[in-house]
Amino acid sequence: MKIGFLGLGNMGAPMATNLARNNYDVRGFDIAAPCPAGIVPAPSGHNAVGGQDLVFTMLPGGRELRQVAEDILPHMGTGTIWVDCSTVEIEAATETARRAAKRGVTFLDAPVSGGITGARAGTLTIMVGGPAAAFSRVRPVLEVVGGRIVHCGKVGAGQSTKICNNLILAPAMVATCEAFALADRLGLDLSILFEVVSKSSGYSWSSNAYTPLPGIGTESPADHGYQAGFAARLMLKDLLLAEQAAESVNFWPEVSMAAKEYYRRFVEEKGKGELDFSAVMLELMAGNESNGCREQNQRPLAPTD
Ligand code: NAD
Repeated sequence: MKIGFLGLGNMGAPMATNLARNNYDVRGFDIAAPCPAGIVPAPSGHNAVGGQDLVFTMLPGGRELRQVAEDILPHMGTGTIWVDCSTVEIEAATETARRAAKRGVTFLDAPVSGGITGARAGTLTIMVGGPAAAFSRVRPVLEVVGGRIVHCGKVGAGQSTKICNNLILAPAMVATCEAFALADRLGLDLSILFEVVSKSSGYSWSSNAYTPLPGIGTESPADHGYQAGFAARLMLKDLLLAEQAAESVNFWPEVSMAAKEYYRRFVEEKGKGELDFSAVMLELMAGNESNGCREQNQRPLAPTD
């Protein structure tokens, strides 16, 4: 199977590399990132997809997906399957699927979970929406980049599933960082707290697989100066997608939307969107002056205090 791969950033590069290592013939293109070793560099997006059986995209968001669709669809042959692994709004997926169908291309939305570690190890969870027949055809290829491949339903269902997953992840990360910051102020040894939390009811993917403190727990972006990883701007994007999805069904996920507000301040007001989403730990450790959330939530002293 000949594969075209567009979007060779933090996630796309290791995914494309894994495909090439498994003897797939991969042509790649990115508007900014370099082409990793083993991938044949293409001079443009449409050049990367022309004549390929399968096309992967791993782009920042829905705007880029729509732009790419405009560029590549006229160059994709009938019968091509397009697997979009980006996280985008549900409508961007369903609309692109409709446009693709008009050209005889089958579009599957296939967002992933597992971060750069999962992308490098080929153990991503892949949540796929779209026709079952196309899913069955690409499943062996998806198994090269993922450890758990789940058919979630019709096109768009992959994005819906991913949105719900990240609605759990964001507040879990903020709560994990808050717990460590509180523990620090209470004078606890943070490695001892980790030992307890990682085996107790407070554990989560954020504490155990992506520990937000350097030198403690699993190796993560915290051990590399909080370089993304999963950029905070992308987490904010996912939370905005969740907000949009929730509003469409008249539902308000209150705690998760508090986490969205936290990331909005972190990204838009503090300009830290390029740092990893676990870098909120730095803010919380830095003290009151840089922690908008804490200032806002601080209990005023009662006269008798
Ligand atoms: P990234 O910003 O590192 O990579 C995206 C790449 O797409 C960039 O290199 C960019 O130059 C490229 N790009 C943009 N427009 C393009 C175009 N028209 N043609 C070709 N390339 C183009 O982002 P990432 O961290 O790799 O994430 C990619 C997607 O995966 C996002 O939708 C994100 O929400 C999702 N995701 C990321 C993670 C993570 O841990 N990083 C985890 C799960 C899901």
